[in-house]
Amino acid sequence: MNVLVINCGSSSLKYELYDMTTETSLANGLCERLGTDGANIEHERADGVVYEADVAMPDHRVAIGQAVEALTSPEHGVIGSLDEIGAVGHRVVHGAEEFAQSVRIDEQVEDAIDRFSGLAPLHNPPNLLGIRAARELLPHVAHVAVFDTAFHQSMPRHAYIYGLPWEMYAEHGIRRYGFHGTSHRYVSLRAGQFLAERAIPVADQKIVTCHLGNGCSMAAVKGGRSIDTTMGYTPLEGLVMGTRCGDLDPAIVLYLAQDLGMTLDEIDHMLQKQSGLAGLSGVGNDMRDIQKAGAAGDERARLTLDLFAYRVRKYIGAYAAVMGGLDCVVFTGGIGENDYLQRRWCVQGLEFLGIVEDPQKNLPKSELVFTDGIADIGADDARGCLLVIETDEELMIARDTVEVLAAG
Ligand code: ADP
Repeated sequence: MNVLVINCGSSSLKYELYDMTTETSLANGLCERLGTDGANIEHERADGVVYEADVAMPDHRVAIGQAVEALTSPEHGVIGSLDEIGAVGHRVVHGAEEFAQSVRIDEQVEDAIDRFSGLAPLHNPPNLLGIRAARELLPHVAHVAVFDTAFHQSMPRHAYIYGLPWEMYAEHGIRRYGFHGTSHRYVSLRAGQFLAERAIPVADQKIVTCHLGNGCSMAAVKGGRSIDTTMGYTPLEGLVMGTRCGDLDPAIVLYLAQDLGMTLDEIDHMLQKQSGLAGLSGVGNDMRDIQKAGAAGDERARLTLDLFAYRVRKYIGAYAAVMGGLDCVVFTGGIGENDYLQRRWCVQGLEFLGIVEDPQKNLPKSELVFTDGIADIGADDARGCLLVIETDEELMIARDTVEVLAAG
């Protein structure tokens, strides 16, 4: 069966078509700048054939139409008609406490995604637009929602409740939810298979997954279940990210408003868009540029690099403590997969936890030795494992879609 995976952002739509009999990607694409004069589609077939075009795409419905046209085109398509799409998997950011697993989409699920828009105002509304448009275009196939928050629904209460008055949770749903769940689930599953082959059964496994991209988060995965994660009520908590601040004393927000006279919108913009790597380094949010500036002796860039790694290292220690041990640390995401120096600094001094980098194996991505998508960069005689795993959220969504259908 072919499964179409759709990921809608506010002005973009990513898609990928999988043949799930072999779990191979047939084609993928990106429609960008929807609703503007500069809208365009980039489509790539697995054999490397590329199609790019500037097309007017006023909304997500037209964008999905364009994606389907590209997939069925005689020149650069991979299927003859829409009938060859057997199901659609949708990435949805927030499923709140209602969805601990992926579900088949019906009116009630759509309503719930809509209801949780207040929790993810930038993400759930475009996710829902994509779902509605795709269900209109492909009404006869099953549509499945895969939630970013679902994997972290296994966190125990003491990990997800904030130290606020109880009513804040009970009446307003203010708690830690966690995000990037599909990626943490995918890489922890892969790491789990790796450990199982080394005689550590899944039930005993203690894994820390580090998804370091533009957004960054970590998870403590014990016995295959997420028991803690760094992002919280929103994706602003936790690690220092590209432009987001991560952990912060909440009193700072009050100070910014009361003493510096900043408006709530200004504070929001600062914490989300002007902080993190960009705000600290002054050379932008791309780790490559900060590495370059740091290597050239720029002090602020060096501090930024240290601070980023320090926060990751701190959480590895915290998660080893809450899991009562550590078998494996996994790096993934744009920084986690590519930046061998950051990986080195993030685990520096963790020999006491059994995590030791082998500098001969921890190399730039093009030189890493991947076996089945996993590069082992740990010292051979270390107690724990250190892995780089290429994340594949789209494949995970396609797998879930097949599983939900199989479960009826
Ligand atoms: P997103 O979170 O948007 O999916 P990615 O996971 O693709 O993003 O990560 C993007 C980030 O990865 C870039 O902003 C950059 O900081 C970092 N990155 C990509 N390639 C490299 C590299 N070779 N070295 C260091 N950092 C890199």
